Amino acid sequence: MYVLGPCSAESREQVVETAVSIANHFPKSIFRAGIWKPRTRPGNFEGIGELGLSWLREAGDKSGLKVATEVANTRHVELALKNDIDVLWVGARTTVNPFYVQEIAEALKGMDIPIMVKNPLAPDFSLWLGAVERFEKVGTSQVIAIHRGFHHYDSKPYRNLPQWEIPIQLMAERPDLPILCDISHIGGDRALLAGIAQKAMDLNMNGLHIEVHPDPAEALSDSRQQITTDQLLDLISGIEWREATTDNQEFHQSLRHLRSEVDSIDQDVLKAFFRRMESISRIGALKKKNKVTVLQVKRWKKIEDHYLTEGKALGLSEEFLTKLLHIIHDESMRIQHDIMNR
Ligand code: PEP
Ligand code: MN
Repeated sequence: MYVLGPCSAESREQVVETAVSIANHFPKSIFRAGIWKPRTRPGNFEGIGELGLSWLREAGDKSGLKVATEVANTRHVELALKNDIDVLWVGARTTVNPFYVQEIAEALKGMDIPIMVKNPLAPDFSLWLGAVERFEKVGTSQVIAIHRGFHHYDSKPYRNLPQWEIPIQLMAERPDLPILCDISHIGGDRALLAGIAQKAMDLNMNGLHIEVHPDPAEALSDSRQQITTDQLLDLISGIEWREATTDNQEFHQSLRHLRSEVDSIDQDVLKAFFRRMESISRIGALKKKNKVTVLQVKRWKKIEDHYLTEGKALGLSEEFLTKLLHIIHDESMRIQHDIMNR
């Protein structure tokens, strides 16, 4: 499943031409264009407004594609429905607020129009699933989740951190719920799109959401991340398609073998962590008895250096080592704090 189209509807020609050119190659895709744009700061292009809905409808009629736009309040919903928009979506800045989501859901009661729910700005799994559930509770039968990444002060090289573990959790808890990956808003830069698309397809997501513009450099919003229809074709044809499973028995045998290897290593890792935390507790008791603080910066620096050097020599990535060390260190400090303040 593909959701394709410009970040914003800018002119009648742009909307209709983009839809027709997309339909030539992806006749089953959903055509998207933002009419009301949630800009972080006022003064940027805030969308063409209501007028754009008629362009979108015309684009749908001329291309044969279903058309979609973002709604952020009940007025948007009413206008979109009045203009026969086929599919709606709620953006990341809306999903973040259960009051908005509930109002929009209630405005859709009895309509049974497909709704796409972007993940909230914050990496809050329950807030995302909660928004999905609010639409389901009013009787919407076609809810689709969209993973568009999460706001983070240090999201480089991405615009929004993918934090894949969150969509994976959604897929695990709700295998019935279709999920698309919005590679454009995760990447923020067209150079990153192919890698993100491959990753999403390797996770067996149900499709991609990609911003497509006839002239990205001139786009009124999100110009760095949009691509032309030709670039879209290149991107899709570059994806390696893999199946969720195979009939090959040798594959299954080797997989079982390797998985039991991993399971037994995991058990060793858990036991090692347990032993580490036991030693940490003893250090905590010793520090308490001698009235010494939990954190000793010099020692921490030494552990960090040691970890990175040894880990990198083993071929582990610096990113992994840093994350792992921080989790271990946080937990160790927590244990010692508990002991010392018991
Ligand atoms: C968009 O789809 O153009 C958009 C504003 O996305 P998001 O809500 O994911 O930021
Ligand atoms: Mn956009």
